[in-house]
Amino acid sequence: MNEMEELYREIILDHNKRPRNFRKMEDCTHHAEGHNPLCGDEIEVFVKVDNGVITDISFEGEGCAISKSSASLMTTALKGKTIEEAHREAGIVISMLSGKTDANEIDELGDIAALQGVRQFPARIKCATLSWHALEASLIGKDDTSTE
Ligand code: ZN
Repeated sequence: MNEMEELYREIILDHNKRPRNFRKMEDCTHHAEGHNPLCGDEIEVFVKVDNGVITDISFEGEGCAISKSSASLMTTALKGKTIEEAHREAGIVISMLSGKTDANEIDELGDIAALQGVRQFPARIKCATLSWHALEASLIGKDDTSTE
């Protein structure tokens, strides 16, 4: 394992052990449940939008380390961002995980770039994209989404 992979692994383990913004949000404006039957991950994403800006974002649910740390990384990255920025970031993450993003875009992601290690494990890619799909679903008013 090289230094970068080691760092990525540590970020993922840390977010799995101490997930950020892991709570239900009663006064959210948007929420959606994401299901990944392949692995059994169930992640619910809560978003509070005010004037086009994500003022609060949290998640809840049961899932493997990858799905949980991806959701945790997402909440830390998107708080304070506009809806457009969130869509853009979700697009970059999803294409990064399918191997279609260039290095410059990945650099913009900060800690989320740690998720690219998941590409080595094709069966886990849906775990990593789950919370991002749930976020996208919530923002367009769908309250349920599945990776299947
Ligand atoms: Zn999973």
